[in-house]
Amino acid sequence: MSLPPLKRVLLKLSGEVLMGNQQFGIDPEFVAELAKEVKAAKDTGLEICLVIGGGNIFRGMAGAAKGMDRAQADYMGMLATVMNALAMQNALEQLGVETRVQSAIQMDQVCEPVIRRRAERHLEKGRVVIFAAGVGAPYFTTDSGAALRAAEMKCDALLKGTSVDGVYDSDPKLNPKAIRFDTVAYDRVLADNLKVMDASAVALCRDNKIPIVVFSIREKGNLARVLAGKGVQTIVQDS
Ligand code: UDP
Repeated sequence: MSLPPLKRVLLKLSGEVLMGNQQFGIDPEFVAELAKEVKAAKDTGLEICLVIGGGNIFRGMAGAAKGMDRAQADYMGMLATVMNALAMQNALEQLGVETRVQSAIQMDQVCEPVIRRRAERHLEKGRVVIFAAGVGAPYFTTDSGAALRAAEMKCDALLKGTSVDGVYDSDPKLNPKAIRFDTVAYDRVLADNLKVMDASAVALCRDNKIPIVVFSIREKGNLARVLAGKGVQTIVQDS
């Protein structure tokens, strides 16, 4: 099975891909490389919504594991996603790509609040819209934020750019014989607890028939290859 024709996509990048080869934080050179990939995709005529995680800076679960209040830690995680969004906005604008950041936690001096109709207008004008701060509530992840924005912006697919090249039947780091799926059904992902996105994000995509494309964003040119249907990837969709 292949993807439907794509006019508008939501690209979700894990925070960790912004680290480049560092152990923590943001590597501006690597963000610039990612921005080039986004620009190349946009230059093909696609409308692009972006969601970037915050795991390169702070994850609520990690804070909670060390004794922090989970909700408090999650708000810190959401703020981390805003920093990543601003870094990506900067990199895209340095390439001449018009960009707007919309945050689910209002911070007027820094970016716009999430307003769907305004985001729609930005896309029509050829701007990339970066949605920050996930869904704006603790106990969620940016995967859920990505699925939510993909649904409300009526995206044709959710592209999950991460550091692995798809979905495997077991952890490829632990099992050298792990097999990568070319396509896999939403229900299998949920039933077998396959590591794609968290369950609420997968269920939201399933209920709204949004295919999820999991691919490695670490290899140069891979986003373009995936969009051309030629990349190494896993497509999660109805069976
Ligand atoms: N977060 C949250 N609600 C959201 C989105 C994110 O509480 O709607 C917090 C949560 O603590 C999460 C952190 O922000 O761990 C960073 O996001 P995520 O872990 O999804 O980033 P990624 O793994 O994609 O880098």
